[in-house]
Amino acid sequence: MTDIIHLLPDSIANQIAAGEVIQRPASVVKELVENSLDADARHIHIIITDAGRTLVQVIDDGKGMSTTDARMSFERHATSKIKTTGDLFALYTRGFRGEALASVAAIAQVELKTRRAEDEMGTLLKIAGSKVESQEAAFCAVGTTISVKNIFFNVPARRKFLKSNETERRNIFTEIERIALVNPAIEFTVVENDVQTMHLPPANLRQRIVQMQGKGINQQLIEINEETTLAKIHGYISTPQFAKKGRASQFFFVNNRYIRHPFFHKAVMTAYEPLISAAENPNYFICFEVEPDTIDVNIHPTKTEVKFENERTLWQILMVTVKESLGKFNAIPSIDFDTADAPDIPIFDPSKPASMPKVSVNPDYNPFQASHGDGSRASRPRLDWEQLYKGFENEGKETSVSPDPNAALFQAGHSSSLTSPKHYQYKQKYILTSVKSGLMIIDQHRSHVRILFDKYLSQITDRKGISQRVLFPEMIELTSSEASSLSEIMGDMEALGFELSDLGNNTFAIQGVPSELQNIDAVALVRSMIDKNIETGCNIQEEVHESLALSMANFTAIPVGKLLSEEEMQLMVNQLFACQSPNHTPDGKAIITVISDDEMDNKLKSF
Ligand code: ADP
Ligand code: MG
Repeated sequence: MTDIIHLLPDSIANQIAAGEVIQRPASVVKELVENSLDADARHIHIIITDAGRTLVQVIDDGKGMSTTDARMSFERHATSKIKTTGDLFALYTRGFRGEALASVAAIAQVELKTRRAEDEMGTLLKIAGSKVESQEAAFCAVGTTISVKNIFFNVPARRKFLKSNETERRNIFTEIERIALVNPAIEFTVVENDVQTMHLPPANLRQRIVQMQGKGINQQLIEINEETTLAKIHGYISTPQFAKKGRASQFFFVNNRYIRHPFFHKAVMTAYEPLISAAENPNYFICFEVEPDTIDVNIHPTKTEVKFENERTLWQILMVTVKESLGKFNAIPSIDFDTADAPDIPIFDPSKPASMPKVSVNPDYNPFQASHGDGSRASRPRLDWEQLYKGFENEGKETSVSPDPNAALFQAGHSSSLTSPKHYQYKQKYILTSVKSGLMIIDQHRSHVRILFDKYLSQITDRKGISQRVLFPEMIELTSSEASSLSEIMGDMEALGFELSDLGNNTFAIQGVPSELQNIDAVALVRSMIDKNIETGCNIQEEVHESLALSMANFTAIPVGKLLSEEEMQLMVNQLFACQSPNHTPDGKAIITVISDDEMDNKLKSF
């Protein structure tokens, strides 16, 4: 019998391995730009054609490579960044596995031009499908230019797998955004299909955030800054007033690279919890600096998860830091809102003039002084939090908007019309009505979401939304990735009745809104629709329609806390039961529950 095991040729092995590192044009952009940063470039120029399908080119003014290094850089596991295993634990660079260039060269046609300052001549190297085609001396500037053409030219299956240009473009900008934010001193330009679409001059972090997110964000940024033995934490968080529904700009960076960290995200959200509603999200841009040997570097280069050695302690530090900064900004004390004896927050009545709650805050309060030992709560200063709500409480008592529950119940029983069922609104949240089998409880907000969703969805598919021109068009400033998401859904939004015009520079004017939307914050709505589209990342038309209809329904449905008249409740219930699926919201939340007569009888059984 002959042996059947043989080694794969390098080119095929590289192609397979490339799949891990290079999934799409955005991965090429990320790897090349990170290499430029590692080479200490100050200016990085990115050129993209056809959303990166045809060309991704990165030009830097970094330290360049020697002729031999240029050739070596395309070998798998060729890296200048680690020499010993010890280096692995003291790593500040972005790459280190030496896989990116080898992977790129395996699946594209690559040209590398590079020169070091000490060399008179540079080198030009061409390589395609892992085969070196030529290498020759060349005149060029100090630095490195890498062009990656026709990605996946030799792997048709993967090329087919690429998404629409809009989606690929969005992915590219997502990567650029993550890198540019945390490297504000570096100048970036992006040229797409021969048009310059982004230019970020050298800046500090705050300016860079504004460059990328639009001027509007400047006023909402609160600085955070904390130095402990475990980590330095600095960056910006947004004031609670600017928290928005849907996806916000939320970034963590560690040692200058973007990471995802759901656990730390929870720490930030915990700090905001008393100040914003559960549906709202704050913006944050938070950078950690830690000793490289306290994070796990043995992670995949394209993955954004990082494991910290002292995760729990850092969680506490981060939470307190954010809370402190919010506290100083808002002049609210840092308190434990989760204590069992916290008061019910009275309902705010907008018709009454609000009086400023009086609070005192100690600006010198250092959360780390007292709680160093065990980080326990007891050691934190206790402030008189009850007085926070004093002003509201008094108002609430005088002008209670909720009907006396007993009065309403009796009224319902003795009302004139006996033909239509009576409805009782409970806590401005549920509609109660009697049905054959028992007591039906309907969630008023969810019920309205279902009704509106069905309506908006049919408007999109039938393209019959009626637009109402606005007198003073509002401008909406987007990031590049948001703008590209908006162009994806623009047609459908027009079907709903929006009129949007592109003013260039990622700025749009809202010139018309669906006619049934009166008195809504059109900018916030459009933003939430974009966010939802980015979040779901879907490109099946049906799903896009559903996601648009749902975000519009969520946004416009009557909220919990709205007092409803008998007629309104009646109408709502009728409309709900005219829907095909009245039991659940489009995203699967229960709308209705029935407490059966038997259950009630059982509960009230006398022994
Ligand atoms: P890694 O970044 O993990 O070391 P890469 O495959 O991305 O692996 O790059 C291999 C090597 O090529 C790097 O270690 C570096 O020495 C060199 N290199 C790549 N890009 C550049 C660049 N833009 N400027 C200078 N050197 C570069
Ligand atoms: Mg690299």
